[in-house]
Amino acid sequence: MSDCLFCKIINGEIPSTKVYEDDNVYAFNDIDPQAPFHIIIVPKDHIASGNDLTDENSAIVGHIFSAAAKIAKEKGFAENGWRIVNNCGKDGGQTVGHLHFHLLAGRNLQWPPG
Ligand code: AMP
Ligand code: ZN
Repeated sequence: MSDCLFCKIINGEIPSTKVYEDDNVYAFNDIDPQAPFHIIIVPKDHIASGNDLTDENSAIVGHIFSAAAKIAKEKGFAENGWRIVNNCGKDGGQTVGHLHFHLLAGRNLQWPPG
């Protein structure tokens, strides 16, 4: 999508600090980290939000979770734990219209979130 911030990050038009990449997924440091480790994991294909997931395109979500597990092991926080967050729509706090998953770690994350 031409006017999508995360599509522009994926194709390099907007700079990012890459943490992980494969054929289907791109992951980069969040610009406003809420934990010592805070990255954004996105599908390379533009999907606007969780509302747009279907039986046909949702395999990417499992792929994103397996990428998260790999990153957690590689970065050394698998044992202490981590959190994935997906904000969907206005009330869910979504501010960028490209499906994305926050991966947070490196501190004792509180529950419930705000
Ligand atoms: P959300 O509120 O769930 O839509 O999350 C959007 C996230 O994208 C926020 O945590 C922002 O800090 C992050 N973000 C926005 N612009 C950039 C950028 N240019 N590079 C990295 N992260 C960004
Ligand atoms: Zn996009």
